[in-house]
Amino acid sequence: MKKKLLSLLLAAACVFSMAACGSGSDSAGDSGNAAQTSEADDTEDAEEAEASGEGGMLIMATNAEFPPYEYHEGDEIVGIDAEIAAAIAEELGMELKIEDMAFDSIITAVSGGKADMGLAGMTVNPDREKNVNFSDTYATAAQVIIVKEGSETAGPDDLTGKKIGVQLGTTGDIYAEDIEDAEIERYNKGMEAVQALLQDKIDAVVIDGEPAKVYVAENEGLKVLDEPLTEEEYAIAIAKDNDELLEKVNTALTSLKDSGKLDEIVAKYISADE
Ligand code: GLN
Repeated sequence: MKKKLLSLLLAAACVFSMAACGSGSDSAGDSGNAAQTSEADDTEDAEEAEASGEGGMLIMATNAEFPPYEYHEGDEIVGIDAEIAAAIAEELGMELKIEDMAFDSIITAVSGGKADMGLAGMTVNPDREKNVNFSDTYATAAQVIIVKEGSETAGPDDLTGKKIGVQLGTTGDIYAEDIEDAEIERYNKGMEAVQALLQDKIDAVVIDGEPAKVYVAENEGLKVLDEPLTEEEYAIAIAKDNDELLEKVNTALTSLKDSGKLDEIVAKYISADE
């Protein structure tokens, strides 16, 4: 009797662990969603990958507060970067794991080896290049201005002396610092800056163009000004001493670009007529 109970329990545990492993590998596959695994699953996935001689775990650091590049959908982190990372992991025969953290912790996580790569709609800039290497670029972007409809702020020149909301440690933050007499309010999430704008605590938000479009679509009474502030390019951050991964990631990116898979991922989240 006891034996029977034990074998039942073992069978149940087995089914559970198979399901857990399955959800991890599925997400790197056709569903396109990046793997989100619980702590318990991670250990199993890592062990399985090692045991089967596969490439092991590829850890992506991100800040999942940046739609459409990375954001939460239920328990999952989805978006363009999450899918690009899943596609890269697939090319490399590795299992993707996503670590969500504050945006300004990503470079440290990558340079310190806590994560293998940072994908976070991250703009290549010279200061960051002192601490990490960047892959080939995979998207162009811009800082834009969000204001309330009817605002007197009509373009970049009108930002002088204004109260401007930005996300801490972003290129929007860096740009806003140079605006004459501007008062900068720094938020951990872009959406928090947008909330502050809706509540008239600030006059404008400076943020990347694509999340700006999402925030304006989701909140009534806001608009994005036509004239962008910057031209930027997104790339993947990789530790300075990890040339091997940099090379592999660039090769994977090239193949995703050539096969049209990259365009396909982008088109799923950003419609061309916008
Ligand atoms: N592109 C901006 C930067 O790199 C913002 C990125 C983000 O907020 N995730 O600083």
